[in-house]
Order: sequence, then C-alpha cells, then structure tokens
Amino acid sequence: MKDRLFIYGILGCIFLGLSAKPVSVYSEERFRIVLDAGHGGRDQGAAGRKIQEKEVTLKIAQRAAKYIKRRTRGVDVILTRNRDEFISLNERANFANFCQADLFISIHANSARGYAEGTETFVWNKRHNPWSFKLARLIQKEYTERGKRKNRGVKKANFAVLRNTNMPAVLTEVGFISNAKEEKYLKSRKGRRKLAYCIYQAVKQYLKTIDE
Ligand SMILES: [Zn+2]
Repeated sequence: MKDRLFIYGILGCIFLGLSAKPVSVYSEERFRIVLDAGHGGRDQGAAGRKIQEKEVTLKIAQRAAKYIKRRTRGVDVILTRNRDEFISLNERANFANFCQADLFISIHANSARGYAEGTETFVWNKRHNPWSFKLARLIQKEYTERGKRKNRGVKKANFAVLRNTNMPAVLTEVGFISNAKEEKYLKSRKGRRKLAYCIYQAVKQYLKTIDE
C-alpha cells in the first residue's frame, strides 16, 4: 500500500509538473492543495444509522476539489484518496509533504455518545501556525454564515496529520454523524455540496489574503 501511494504520488506530481507547461516543466508558481478524505477501506470512521464517515468525507472532498479546480486559477488540488481504500495517517501526511503542498485540509465527520451538534476545525496544538489558524477560522465562518451550521469553533489538537505535515494544515469536522438530524444533512447531496462549497469559499478567501 505504501509503495502504491508513493508511486501515485510520483505520477501525480509528474503529471502536475507536465500540466504546468509551457511555463516550466515543474512550475513553482502553482499553489498546491492536498485534500484528505478521512478514513477509508477497512477503517470506516464514525458510523451513523445509515451512513459511514469514510463515505461522507470522500464525497465532500471530491466535490470541494471540483469547486476549487473549476473556480480558482493557478491552483492544483490533489486528493489523498479518490475511492474507498485504507491509507494510514502517516501516509497521508507523507504524501502531502512529498507533493510539497502549500495547504493540507483533512475532512472528517464527528461522533459523540450524547447529543452533540455542529462543525469544528482543528489546528495543531504544539506550534502556532497563523496560516493554519486563518484557514480554520475562514472555514468555520463559512459553515456558520453560508451553511447555517452550528459553530463549535476553532480548536487545537495533536492529530497526526496536523503534526506530521510541513505546511499550513487543518482538520475539519463537518458535523455529527451520531446526530440523526445532522446525519440526514450529511447524507443529502444538498448538504454535502453546501459543506464542500463552504470549504471552497474559505480556500478562495485564504488565497486572496496570501496574495495581498
Ligand atoms: Zn474521522
């Protein structure tokens, strides 16, 4: 699995380099985003009554990638997985580092024993990266204002994908799969598209601020 991901990484990066022609074989100008659909394969993540986290995260990551690719210039989007397969946390982070990504966004859905509702976005707790924090705040603002989701805020955690990535990185929780109302939203095409659109909008605003 590790070898295959590595090969995909090389192929993906070679392809990106070629697609950047005729500016240069490997353009440094293009901004590279790695979108990481949490879980996959034998790791289903959180399970609701009708859906599994791995399926929600893949759908939202694919849709967000589409929005970003179609609507922003000079940006390449690479998915850590584009189908239902298991990839370890270290492989995800290594992949982003190998691709020299400028931004890493890991997408997850939440679960709780008791009643819980809303979205939250995490940054690494061991070192403050103002850019990670900026993107996390933009994502939460979008979920709240555009998506009308309950805001649980920006939080800090020592998650492996945040710890092991060399670029600004966030892990975003799009809602509680354990909450029947939110599960219904996460299961719906409308809900998934809205959340993906919020991520795209946050990325768009992030790109604007780094251009200034
Ligand atoms: Zn998860």
